[in-house]
Amino acid sequence: MVIVKDEMLVKGVVFYLESDLPSEAKFLLEDFRLAVNNAVRVGLQARVSSRNALVRIAYADFRQDHPRMYAQHLVSAFEVAGSVLKNHRRRVRKGVICRIPYVKRLMMKAENQAYKLDRKSGVIDLPIRAGCHVDLGLIVSQYHRKYLDDTALTLGSLTVLLDRVIVTFRKGAPKPYTPDSVISLDTNERSLDGVFAKDDNIKAVKAEFPDIAMIQQQHHDRRRRLQKKKAHDRRTSRNLCRREGAREHHRIDYRLHEVANAVISFAEHQRSAVVLEDLRGIRSKRSKELNRRLSMWPRRKLHQIIEYKAQWRGIPVVKVDPRNSSRTCPICGRTQDSRMGAEFKCECGWHLDRHINASINLLQTAVSKGMAGGLRFNPGAFQHDVMMILYDPVKGARSEPNGTSGVIGAT
Ligand SMILES: [Zn+2]
Repeated sequence: MVIVKDEMLVKGVVFYLESDLPSEAKFLLEDFRLAVNNAVRVGLQARVSSRNALVRIAYADFRQDHPRMYAQHLVSAFEVAGSVLKNHRRRVRKGVICRIPYVKRLMMKAENQAYKLDRKSGVIDLPIRAGCHVDLGLIVSQYHRKYLDDTALTLGSLTVLLDRVIVTFRKGAPKPYTPDSVISLDTNERSLDGVFAKDDNIKAVKAEFPDIAMIQQQHHDRRRRLQKKKAHDRRTSRNLCRREGAREHHRIDYRLHEVANAVISFAEHQRSAVVLEDLRGIRSKRSKELNRRLSMWPRRKLHQIIEYKAQWRGIPVVKVDPRNSSRTCPICGRTQDSRMGAEFKCECGWHLDRHINASINLLQTAVSKGMAGGLRFNPGAFQHDVMMILYDPVKGARSEPNGTSGVIGAT
């Protein structure tokens, strides 16, 4: 299936502030947090969690407690409280023991009618209360300019933190283009391995991320140690572990975005469709240890990021059922009984790196179902001696294509 449609896409962009948050704005953040935490308590008591229900029940009282707060901000506080309550409810349903939720971080959210952003100068006009506004100067880089200057993007909500703001930009999903080529990727623990097919040429492509498995292992070991060391103090141990987990996600996320960017910019430049395995429903029946090591999380997340970025730029993405993709010969169609080593070998004489072979099968599935924009390809045309590196953890993404030829970075 090609992901599509007249959906609204939203992207949050972080801007650091030019100077410290003015004290009026700090007070507003404190009031906002108070309002959120009050609304959480009210919501728990009344067993409601929708913004509208909270507004109905609590607005009048809140107006009295926070007479000076801008009404729109108060409504946003209900909205934030609503999402806190929903998360809380989900945890309770799952049987996780947890305290009454309490927002500690100083933050506030403003809907798009409740603030103004001058997209030329990068200054936010944030109303605090009647007759009192503050200006927040944003640090604008070239990256930010892309979003500020793009007239196809409209402004969504604004989140204000002590040292930065998050502005959300929105646009309707662009219609995916008709591809000129296809890039098909098999997703593995340490790399994306695949092929790039264009005009009867098929070459191997690779994007490596060996450090992701390493980071997972490192953090896993550290959590183990912490649990042992703090065995007498469960609360500290839990908090430390949670912090470890957040740090791990952070580090991994950063790398996943880099890899995804490399794939996406290549696909965009070549006007490729991207073929990925449909990872849903894949669960291995291995030991707990192996399951952790081969945790599906980063791979699913990588797909999510690639799909999202592709959707944002109108790059068609095709997801196909990966069943038997690593055991099938794309030339004669034979299916091998068991998994083999690093190399796929077939009785018909075909042999190829197992992962790349799998990606050819994914491509074949996509093409046979007409999901690759009517493109044809011949697996026999695979060039065994060419490997294009899309992403190398040491060098980063392969340098921007210079437009003189379709193939750069072949080794
Ligand atoms: Zn064969």
